[in-house]
Amino acid sequence: MKKIFFASVICISITSCGGDKKTTESKNVVNMNPQFDSYKINFIEQLWKIYPGWASSQGYHKYDSILVVPNEASRSKELNFAKANLDSLKTFDINGLSDNNKTDYYMIENQLKSAEWAINEQKSFEWNPSEYNVSGAFAEILNGNYDSLDVRLRNFYLKMANIPAYYEAAKKNIKNPTLEHTQLAIEQNLGGISVFETDLHEALNKVKFGEHEKQSIEATAKQAVIAIKGFTDWLKKTDNKTPRSFRLGKELYSKKFEFDIQSGYTVDQIYEKAITHKKELHENMFVLADKLWTKYMNSASKPTDSLQLIRQVIDKISLNHVKPEEFQTTIEKQMPVLIDFIKQKKLIYIDPSKPLVVRKEPEYMAGVAGASISAPGPYDKNGNTYYNVGSLAGWDKEKAESYLREYNHYILQILNIHEAIPGHYTQLVYSNQSPSLIKSLFGNNAMIEGWAVYTERMMLENGYGNNEDEMWLMYYKWNLRSTCNTILDYSVHTKNMSKEDAMNLLMNEAFQQKTEAEGKWRRVSVTQVQLCCYFTGYTEIYDFREEFKKQEGDKFNLKQFHEKFLSYGSGPVKYIKELMVADTKQFSK
Ligand code: ZN
Ligand code: ZN
Repeated sequence: MKKIFFASVICISITSCGGDKKTTESKNVVNMNPQFDSYKINFIEQLWKIYPGWASSQGYHKYDSILVVPNEASRSKELNFAKANLDSLKTFDINGLSDNNKTDYYMIENQLKSAEWAINEQKSFEWNPSEYNVSGAFAEILNGNYDSLDVRLRNFYLKMANIPAYYEAAKKNIKNPTLEHTQLAIEQNLGGISVFETDLHEALNKVKFGEHEKQSIEATAKQAVIAIKGFTDWLKKTDNKTPRSFRLGKELYSKKFEFDIQSGYTVDQIYEKAITHKKELHENMFVLADKLWTKYMNSASKPTDSLQLIRQVIDKISLNHVKPEEFQTTIEKQMPVLIDFIKQKKLIYIDPSKPLVVRKEPEYMAGVAGASISAPGPYDKNGNTYYNVGSLAGWDKEKAESYLREYNHYILQILNIHEAIPGHYTQLVYSNQSPSLIKSLFGNNAMIEGWAVYTERMMLENGYGNNEDEMWLMYYKWNLRSTCNTILDYSVHTKNMSKEDAMNLLMNEAFQQKTEAEGKWRRVSVTQVQLCCYFTGYTEIYDFREEFKKQEGDKFNLKQFHEKFLSYGSGPVKYIKELMVADTKQFSK
C-alpha cells in the first residue's frame, strides 16, 4: 500500500477551472475566485524556486540542475516564503471562494504552517541524519524519460556541483542524532553511491559527449562519492554520548498529527477509537473462527485462548492461495469481476473511457512484490495509469509460499479492491475530474488511504465474496493491520511502548509473522504519524457516511454519496465533510 502520485490536468486559465461553477449567493460577498486562481499559479511558481528538488519529483523539470544546500540561509528563505504567503492568504475573504478554492486555501495554509513548524519546533534537520541523502533525486534524473539523456545528464552534472557543500552543511546541522536515524542514514547513503559510480557510468556510455566533457562529469562524480563517504564516516565516528530518543514525544507527535493528517479528530480520540475497534475485531473474529473450527480443524480440540483459536483457523484458511505462476493472471482476471459487481450493486459510477492498464512490474521496481498503482505526476497529463503487478518468478519456494499465504485467495481480492477498484484507482479518476494542482501536490494521504481502506469494508457489506465467513474473517485480519499500525505508532512515540510489547501486539494480537512484525518495528522507529493515516482516514469516512445516512434517512443513496464525496478531490476528509453537508442542505432547500 504505497503512496501514489496523482495525475491532474493543470489548470492555468484563470477563469475556467472546473470546480468554480458555484458562486456565492450572498450579495455582500465579493467573488474572490479569479484573484485566488492567479495567486495559486504564482504561489506554485515561487514554491518550486524554494523547493527545486520537490519540483523535479513532481515532474516540473525547470530546476533539475539545482541542489539546495541545507543551511541556515536556505531555512530562512523557506521561513520568509511561508510568512509572506500566510500574509497573502489573509487578504482573501474565504466566503468569496468556491468549494474547490476553499479547500485549496486550507491546504496551502496547512502546508506553510507545517513548514514553519518543522523548522522552528520539530527540528528534525538536527536529529535525523537520514534526511540527508542525494542519491534518490539523482537516480530519478537518470531513470526519467521526460527529456533526452543528453539534457538529463547535463543537469545531473550541474546538480552534482553542490554535493560536497550539501554534506558539509549536514554535518553542521546535526546535533545528538537518534541512533536509529544515524544507522539508517549510513545504510541509505552508502547504498546510493552506486548511482554515481555504476549507473552514471552506464549512462555516459550511451551518449556521444566529447572525452573532455565525460572526464569532467566523472571527476565531479568522484568528488560526490568522497563527500558521501565522508559523511557516513563522520556519522560512524562522531561521539554521540547523549543520543536523542527516536520517540517523538507527545507534544511534537500531536502537532505532527494535526499537520500531516488534518483530521477532524484529535490524535487521542483516534487512539481510543483504534483500541475499541481492535476489541470489536477480535470479538467478530472469534465468532467466525469458532464457527469454522470443525470445517478446517476437524476433530482437533479447541484452544482455550480465543486468540490462539483464531490464529489456527486463519493459518488453515491461508493455505488456499494461487500458484506462484498464476499470481499475475489472477489479479488481471479480477478487474472485470470487480467492475461488474460495482455496476450490478450500483455502488459508484466507473468511467469506462479511462481503463486501468494492468502491467508486469517494471524492472526498476522489482523486488517489491504485490501490487501498486503508478499514476502520472501532475505535470504529465498524457501518461497512463498502471496497475503494477509483481511477479514471483525467481523467488525461492519458501519465500513464495509464505508470501502467497499472506496474499491468499481472500486477501488478494481485498488487495485488488484497495489498490484498484473501487480503491485508489477509482479515487484517482474522480480526483482528476476536479483538477487542482494544489490538491495533486499537497494531496491528503489520510483521505487517499482512508478511501481505499473504506472501500474494502463497503464492498463486503454489499455482499462481495457472498458473505462467506472465510472472506469476513480474512478481511478482519487485514483490517487489524491498519488498526494496530495506529495503536503501535501512538504508543511507541507517546507512551514509551517497548519493543517486546510492540512485537506482542503485532504477532499475538494482529496475527502477523515475525518478519513482518520486525519490519514494522523498524518502520515505526524511523517514521512518525505516517502509520496512522490508514485507520484515521477510514474511520473519518466511515463515521461520516453513517452520520450522513442518518441525516438523509430514506433519501440516502450510497452511489450518490460515493460520487459526491470523491468529487471534491484529494482534500482532508474534514473539509470534504463540511462542504458536502453545506451543499446538500443548499440543494434540498
Ligand atoms: Zn493504499
Ligand atoms: Zn501453499
